[in-house]
Amino acid sequence: MAQQVPVEPQAIAGEVEDAGLHEVANDVAYQRLAIVNVVYLGTPDAGDRGWVLIDAGVIGSAASIEAAARERFGANSRPSAIVMTHGHFDHVGALEDLASRWSVPIYAHELELPYLDGRSSYPPADPSVGGGLMSTMSRFYPRGPIDVGRWLHALPSDGTIPGLRDWQWIATPGHSPGHVSLWRESDRALIAGDAVITTAQESAYAVLTQKPELHGPPMYFTPDWESARRSAERLDQLEPELLITGHGPAMHGEAMRSALHTLARDFNQVAVPTQGRYVDKPAGVGQHPAGSFPSSHSG
Ligand SMILES: [Zn+2]
Ligand SMILES: [Zn+2]
Repeated sequence: MAQQVPVEPQAIAGEVEDAGLHEVANDVAYQRLAIVNVVYLGTPDAGDRGWVLIDAGVIGSAASIEAAARERFGANSRPSAIVMTHGHFDHVGALEDLASRWSVPIYAHELELPYLDGRSSYPPADPSVGGGLMSTMSRFYPRGPIDVGRWLHALPSDGTIPGLRDWQWIATPGHSPGHVSLWRESDRALIAGDAVITTAQESAYAVLTQKPELHGPPMYFTPDWESARRSAERLDQLEPELLITGHGPAMHGEAMRSALHTLARDFNQVAVPTQGRYVDKPAGVGQHPAGSFPSSHSG
């Protein structure tokens, strides 16, 4: 099983700046927080309530995110919104902290709300797939739910995103039921969350070294592979110029597009594990009330 599509090194986008920020367009920057990325949308002079944060990192990231926001947008510059690609633990770590400090609305897809307002846990991880330390450990990863219901809103159903005039959200389910990607037609910029990623998230070693590769979603946390495949196809059809994902470096240009095309075309061979608890039978939506799976679950 290949598990990845190699990408030419020139596809890597952006230089590293202060506070660990990589600017990849004049109003797009991202920051790597341990194993996961967050994205800052807004020009450097955007000021208070003039920018939007995408995702909220691993637990303990609030100070790093605030420092990066200060560095990029100036002191006391709060975002106008936080938009969630999905609600997995490595994307919601600082969410409650930041929402309460900044008093800011949080937007997520309607189908993702139960994992963010205390109603539902994610289905159990599948530690048997992917073959790396991150996979093996995945049975211990928190599956929620967290409860940020006070600040939480469903994304508008027309595809618009409050606070982001030229961006739209696109449903890219599979890795999670309400997973979304963000798309800007004018410069073909794509924020894909975990629908496709640019490092082997299953392997702790690859997460550290981040060799340029294109992958399907992190295997251990993907309960619906058929939807995940269709989502990757949809993203490929956009023909993005810039690709920022939840894990791994941002990429751009033809080398990235060609790798994305290969990934979408060969998704079943490259991205889907050959066996695993969700390969033939996806986990249902809404069947996992909070607390319904003991954390020792290992089936
Ligand atoms: Zn995820
Ligand atoms: Zn993730």
